[in-house]
Amino acid sequence: MNRAHNFNAGPAALPTEVLETAQKELLNFNDTGMSVMELSHRSTDYEEVHNEAITLVKDLLEVPEDYEVLLLQGGASLQFSMIPMNFLEKGKAANYILTGSWSEKALKEAKYFGETKIGASSKDSNYKHIPALSDLDVSEEDAYVHITSNNTIFGTQWQDLNVASEVPVIADMSSDILSRPIPVDKFSLIYAGAQKNLGPSGVTLVIIKKDLLSNKKEDIPTLLRYTTHAEKNSLYHTPPTFAIYMLNQVLRWVKDNGGAAGMASRNKEKASLLYEVIDQSDGFYTGHADTNSRSLMNVTFNLPTDELNKQFLDEAKKAGFIGLNGHRSVGGCRASIYNAVSLESVKALQEFMISFRDKHQ
Ligand code: PMP
Repeated sequence: MNRAHNFNAGPAALPTEVLETAQKELLNFNDTGMSVMELSHRSTDYEEVHNEAITLVKDLLEVPEDYEVLLLQGGASLQFSMIPMNFLEKGKAANYILTGSWSEKALKEAKYFGETKIGASSKDSNYKHIPALSDLDVSEEDAYVHITSNNTIFGTQWQDLNVASEVPVIADMSSDILSRPIPVDKFSLIYAGAQKNLGPSGVTLVIIKKDLLSNKKEDIPTLLRYTTHAEKNSLYHTPPTFAIYMLNQVLRWVKDNGGAAGMASRNKEKASLLYEVIDQSDGFYTGHADTNSRSLMNVTFNLPTDELNKQFLDEAKKAGFIGLNGHRSVGGCRASIYNAVSLESVKALQEFMISFRDKHQ
C-alpha cells in the first residue's frame, strides 16, 4: 500500500486501520445492506454509532458528569460566533487571549455581539510564545475568557491549562484535542473541529458545562443555541452522519492505542525527534516557537534563506513528504504531526531533514 507521509495541517492524516474499516463497511454497514451514509439518522443502527461516539469522548477525556458532549456542524469557525452569541451578556466583556491568527478570528466574531477585551497577547513577538498565566488580565467582570490551546499556524501550545477560576474559561482545542489528557473541569466549554485529531471535517465537538446551558439568552436562532442541541442529544436536525461514524472509528482507535495518555507519549516522542534536529542543526533550522511554548502538534521552522526554504519544500515533496509548507500567512515550513501521523513518517522526515542539512550547510 502506498500511503503518503502526510503532514497536512487539517484536514489531516487518519489512521490507516480506520480507513480500512470504513472501506470494508462501506457497502454493507452492520448487515443493514447499506452504507452508514444511507441510514436514517433516526434508525437504531445510526443511533448506536452516535451514542458510542459521545460515550467514547466522555471516557477518553474523563468528562465529568455535569458536562454535555455535543456534535455540531459549522466547524470551529461557527463556534467563534455561537460562543459570544450565547454567552456575552450586556455590561460584561468577553476576554480573548491572543496567541495567533485563530484567536484573532475568534475575537473578531465576538465584536459583533458586544464588548470585548484582550487579556493578554503575544502578537508583538509574532506569536512565538504563550503568555505566562501570571500575565493574564482576567477579572470577575468578564463574561468569559477564551484561549486557543494549540496555535496551528505558529506552532505554540499552552502547557499549563489552569487559566482562571473566577470566570468561565472557553478553549478552542481544534488542533490538539485528545492529543493529551486535559483537566476538563477547568473549562466551561471546549470546542474542536474534527479534521485534525478526531476524524474528517464536517463535525465539531463541543464539551459544555451544564450550568452554562442555563444561561439562556432569548434572541438566538434555534440552531445557534447550545440548549437546542443539548436537549436533543445532538439530533435536533440531521447530523453529519458519516463524519460522526468516522469520529467514532477514530475514537475506538485512540482507545485501542492507550487513550489520551497513550497519544501524549507517542506525540512527545514524535515531536522530540523533530525539535532535536532543529536544536542540533547549528542554526540551519530555526524553530519559530520559544522552547517552552513549543507545540507537540505543529512543528514550525525556517531555513536560513527563502531559497533554501523553497528548495527544502520542493525536495521534500519529491521525496514523498506532503503538506510541509507553512501557512500562507507566515511562510516557512510546518510539520503537523497529529495523533494519526505515524512514528515511522516522523522518523523518515527526521532523516530527510538531517540529510538535507548535511548537503546544504
Ligand atoms: N481554530 C484552530 C486552532 C484551527 O486550527 C482551525 C482550522 N485550522 C480553526 C479554528 C478553524 O476551524 P474550521 O475550519 O473547522 O472552522
